[in-house]
Amino acid sequence: MAQNYTPRKPGTRLTKPQKDRAGRLKLNPPRKQFLDPEVEQLGDERARLARHGVRPAMEKPRPQVQPKAEGWTQRTDADGRPKLEFKQPRVTQPAQHLADMSMADRQEKVKELGLPAFRARQLSTHYFTHYTIDPADMTDLPAEKRDDLVETFFPNLLTEVRRIETEDGQTIKFLWKLFDGVLVESVLMRYQNRITLCVSSQAGCGMNCPFCATGQAGLTRNLSTAEIVEQIIAANRIIAEGQLGKPEGARDIERVTNVVFMGMGEPLANYRRVMNTVHRMVDDAPNGLGMSARNITVSTVGLVPAINKLAEEGIPVTFALSLHAPDNELRDQMIPVNSRWDADEALDAAFNYYVKTGRRVSIEYALIKDMNDHAWRADLLAKKINARGRGWAHINPIPLNPTPGSIWTASEPEVTQEFIDRLNDAGIPTTLRDTRGKEIDGACGQLAAEDA
Ligand code: SAH
Repeated sequence: MAQNYTPRKPGTRLTKPQKDRAGRLKLNPPRKQFLDPEVEQLGDERARLARHGVRPAMEKPRPQVQPKAEGWTQRTDADGRPKLEFKQPRVTQPAQHLADMSMADRQEKVKELGLPAFRARQLSTHYFTHYTIDPADMTDLPAEKRDDLVETFFPNLLTEVRRIETEDGQTIKFLWKLFDGVLVESVLMRYQNRITLCVSSQAGCGMNCPFCATGQAGLTRNLSTAEIVEQIIAANRIIAEGQLGKPEGARDIERVTNVVFMGMGEPLANYRRVMNTVHRMVDDAPNGLGMSARNITVSTVGLVPAINKLAEEGIPVTFALSLHAPDNELRDQMIPVNSRWDADEALDAAFNYYVKTGRRVSIEYALIKDMNDHAWRADLLAKKINARGRGWAHINPIPLNPTPGSIWTASEPEVTQEFIDRLNDAGIPTTLRDTRGKEIDGACGQLAAEDA
């Protein structure tokens, strides 16, 4: 990739979890309550400009809506801070499935059933290329062994509970029940040149962000690799059966081309299984789906050590950081994990991802009226991005999708536009995320919440 600047040495320092004098881990250390020095500095700059008769746009003072949970009570830990869950409370995992296994493991298993290793490749082709687990379709396998093989390799992991489609049929939202009755969602969207699936990586989520529907119930458990892969295979079957609507003039695409880890859960809190899933997606047939890594987006609240690990994996997935506020005062409340790794550390890790992989990263920013959409925040965000380098980040504002009972709403159109313009003017490519599927889902995680 051509670069016309020298990237600054990234701040890749890993923040060690803080410990108390007895050596116990300190969760959520309390943060200083005064203003971020950069915010103060920005304020000074405005005062200086005003003395010189320069009035920056958006001078009208805007209210600051508090990011406290609305319509529900945010769960707190013993110290009264928003509870964070990094480990799944329940460890029962579903039965092992072909998609959980490497090719070597599949071959091993096939041999245990008294068959030669090459049968594993045939089985894998049925699954990853033809999306079939029906013994009747597997005519290249010995008839008397097919049922055994299917039973061993393809336990039923996902049962469709509900499906909601947009009128044009181009967006379908699925509600799945897992083996233990737990509910998760995925959303399938067809565009002109791609088909995107938004997958869940956990049942529930432990990150407790007050504006997100999934976080409200906490973390139930991690999904297994196969439970994530199955969401993609199920979508591919539905596309192959012609069930996904097609816009006028759209390319003939027969399967999911793009996967975003933006459904339920924090993918980097389920790191090993999510990375395994990425391998299944990018590995060529018959090992996996043969998808392009750049078409896979891993989105995170900002778990810094895991971001740094991801940068070393050698798989150039697209990386997205859910920033939502450039100043720690606000981000502490919008993204509780900010108390562990703050906005600057998360941005440093995102920049390091760019330096290590050469892949431009996405910065997500849900625009909430009067909460985080102030013009000075756009300026501060631009400043923090540009301080680290040019051309390394793309900003993706998303109009808030209000959760039930919340009084927060998406930003006004002109405020949204100003926010975008300021970032673009600062030289940072910024595009508003489309709100596909808004009519069918309300906020992410809502379907599961309704049916629970
Ligand atoms: N846990 C990961 C991925 C799941 S959420 C993460 O936080 O990045 C995917 C994106 O949707 C995140 O940017 C998240 O902040 C955003 N999001 C959550 N609730 C939302 C809402 N009500 N409206 C708009 N975006 C929301």
